Amino acid sequence: MDYRSIAHILKSENIDMGGTQIRQALPTKKVERISPFLLLHHFGPFSVAPGGKAFEVAPHPHRGFEPVTFLYRGGLRHKDSRGNEGILAAGDVQWMTAGRGIIHSERASDTFRESGGIMEGVQLWVNLPKDKKRVPPRYQDIKADSIPEIIKEDGKVRIKVVAGSYADQQGPAQTHSPILALQLEVQSGVATSVDIPEDDNSMLYLLRGQLESVNGFVYEAGTLLHYKKDGASVMIKAREDAEILFLAGAPIDEPLAQWGPYVMNTQTEILEAMRDYQMGKMGFYVD
Ligand code: MN
Repeated sequence: MDYRSIAHILKSENIDMGGTQIRQALPTKKVERISPFLLLHHFGPFSVAPGGKAFEVAPHPHRGFEPVTFLYRGGLRHKDSRGNEGILAAGDVQWMTAGRGIIHSERASDTFRESGGIMEGVQLWVNLPKDKKRVPPRYQDIKADSIPEIIKEDGKVRIKVVAGSYADQQGPAQTHSPILALQLEVQSGVATSVDIPEDDNSMLYLLRGQLESVNGFVYEAGTLLHYKKDGASVMIKAREDAEILFLAGAPIDEPLAQWGPYVMNTQTEILEAMRDYQMGKMGFYVD
């Protein structure tokens, strides 16, 4: 069996984001990026009382990459400087292309604010190839019921295909470079495998439960596993009922210059992004 072996076991780090504690699994001190994936944040699960203080990220700019939100529980509202507004419900995915620039806010939806409940999600930053960094911004609000689900191993494994193809199912997200994004639920004691193109990088993030390696090593929730390219597939075995975000993609081997919310190829382009934001070239955000 040519299963991929593990290159890095990354324990997510707690960070403060505007007064909210979240977990950062990428980048870490050990690994800067797993191209084309630049960042992975896990927020929640937060318990919010009806009318209480909920998750809120104030308006901020982005350029040169794709911020993707997988909302597991709760409700989010996004609003931006191009006049777009939308609601994400539990199970929905927002695949956003910042492209040449956008200013947006990410907040709990009004419905969620009123009812309260549990909020939980993952935000992933996907790099854009050099020739796509200045494409017009685009939103793909992907509703939960439009994501194909595959049931395997006598119903003990459920796999939602968000992007790329898996077992003859095509994920609804359109991407600018080849990406496979799967949301898996694997029951305790069950194993399943995912095939990956030879040259693609691959990783998984464990939101809940425990996984077990072929050697019996146990991985706890909040861990990111980064795989080597030494096999054609990844073996996933749950030790406890597990919820997993699995990601693979063709690496983008181009120079990278990153500063905060801008991901470009050169330092000059970063300065240009800062100036364009100041000059209003990413639009103006109005609440
Ligand atoms: Mn953002």
